[in-house]
Amino acid sequence: MTGKIKATIMGCGASLGVPAAGNFWGDCNPDNPKNLRTRSSLLLQSEQANILVDSTVDVRQHMNTYDIKRLDGIIYSHAHSDHINGMDDLRVISYVMEHPIEIYGDHNTISELHRRFDYVFHGGHNVYRPFLKSNVIDYGPHRIGDIRMDLFKQDHGTCDTTGIRINDFAYSVDMVDLDETALKTLKGVKTWVVDAAGYKREKASTHALLDDVLKWSHDLQVEQTYLVVLTGLMDYDVLCNELPDNVRPAYDGLVLEI
Ligand SMILES: [Zn+2]
Repeated sequence: MTGKIKATIMGCGASLGVPAAGNFWGDCNPDNPKNLRTRSSLLLQSEQANILVDSTVDVRQHMNTYDIKRLDGIIYSHAHSDHINGMDDLRVISYVMEHPIEIYGDHNTISELHRRFDYVFHGGHNVYRPFLKSNVIDYGPHRIGDIRMDLFKQDHGTCDTTGIRINDFAYSVDMVDLDETALKTLKGVKTWVVDAAGYKREKASTHALLDDVLKWSHDLQVEQTYLVVLTGLMDYDVLCNELPDNVRPAYDGLVLEI
């Protein structure tokens, strides 16, 4: 077991954010601050470690809002642009720490990051210093600093993603389906933060349908489920009225003790 950890949902939005560029709010009420959503990203903080899950284009705003000056690791759930494209803004964190930030991901994720952002690992033109150091992880038990976790594979339609369980908490961003191993890893979880961006869609292709999330949550007897990867179709108050009491939409800045 890992000691007390603070998990902050820094962003709970889907790839476009809410409002999307052009001030498009979709079905979301602009007067409710809980509908103002940056891209989905999680901060894990223990006594010894700050860990980021994904580096979205909102990462600079997140680092400043939560006053994070040191990062002990970044876990990349997968290499889709909305989860990685803010990494350049973390250069300064690495330079202040005077060493590259350790990043973790499955084989395909790390390969894709090297293909698209080679300069962050190797520097460039004798001007840029490398500021990230990559580590390929296997699914299963893993530890960063004093934070122990179980990593598991999720199906995201176009690629696999990495889910994270820590103590009685789990984070399942960007997934459409969960296999037996994933469900076994999630057994006993009391707080589950999970992708439900398939809301109002008839067919699941890359993101979980709400009905599927509700069924998993019920079958796993999760005490409190929070939905993330929230699209412009997902108004906070409408969702609260539609969902069972133990399933709530997340909002930016939601803090959980895990
Ligand atoms: Zn994705």
